[in-house]
Amino acid sequence: MGRANAAYYAQHDPYRDFTTAPEISQVFGELLGAWAAVTWEAMGRPKPVHLAELGPGRGTLISDALRTVARVAPALREALDLHLVEGSRSLRRVQAERVQAEWHGKVEELPREPCIVLANEFLDALPVRQRVRRGPGWVERWVEEGMFVERDFTPGGMEAAEGAVLEFSEEAHRVVREITARVVEHGGAALFLDYGAAESRLGDTLQAIRDGAWANPLERPGHADLTAHVDFAGLAETVRRAGGCVHGPIPQGIFLARLGLFQRTDQLARTQPPARAAALIRAAQRLAEPDAMGRLFKAMAITHPELSAPAGFSP
Ligand code: SAH
Repeated sequence: MGRANAAYYAQHDPYRDFTTAPEISQVFGELLGAWAAVTWEAMGRPKPVHLAELGPGRGTLISDALRTVARVAPALREALDLHLVEGSRSLRRVQAERVQAEWHGKVEELPREPCIVLANEFLDALPVRQRVRRGPGWVERWVEEGMFVERDFTPGGMEAAEGAVLEFSEEAHRVVREITARVVEHGGAALFLDYGAAESRLGDTLQAIRDGAWANPLERPGHADLTAHVDFAGLAETVRRAGGCVHGPIPQGIFLARLGLFQRTDQLARTQPPARAAALIRAAQRLAEPDAMGRLFKAMAITHPELSAPAGFSP
């Protein structure tokens, strides 16, 4: 999954296959910029401070966020160094057309200094392992010559129905552990938005999208976007074990509404011609409504233990 996605993001324009929250409405990135500004204040306005985005795609989120930071917190805009963690060279080029930044291939390369980290639909792209319940234990599922094979039986483990699938993303836990270490040692906060259940669940959530439609994940590796649901509860446990404080996960719709999604959308819409105004309002609804992206997507923050709950995480 890791290699297939690396090839996919290097060679395809992923936005031909799917869209994401920052591409749906500029207000999404603007609210995250405001979130970063409020968080910086709560941190005691450290300088220097590093603003990092993981998996920035086209750079839309970060350029919308920076525009808002410059407006609401010019001192932060002045103080911050921008870091983008991006594995794809072609997406780096697209991002470089929008913002000036330092690029990194891995979160481990981020500076060990106060930081604010944003990540939208990053964790879901990281590879997962799958284990399958077989008789009195679990086997690991591998891909071999384009097919799933089951190997390495381990007896015992958690009880589950025959055939139940247990997913685990070592990469996602590694990312979260690295970010937590920085936040705990040097101060700061991180915000992850992604889709997945708030509670850990069994189930095969691996999915592929090719040419904008559902596809078989094993067919034509490197030509489809592979994702799996994010195990927020499991990641939260990793944050706590690393000494960080977890906020959420809460539904994205609630988080964005608390940050002012509808107020900002109305304000923008009033300055636009009717068709554009209606499109902005529909976009906000899509991000927030439970039946669209408002409930399946979650927001979860990691903070230094002495920081109070970040914006959007308390009523
Ligand atoms: N945040 C963006 C893009 C989401 S797509 C948006 O909301 O539109 C996932 C992004 O993560 C892409 O930029 C992809 O190239 C990057 N990515 C995926 N796996 C990665 C990895 N292992 N290391 C670094 N970047 C990765």
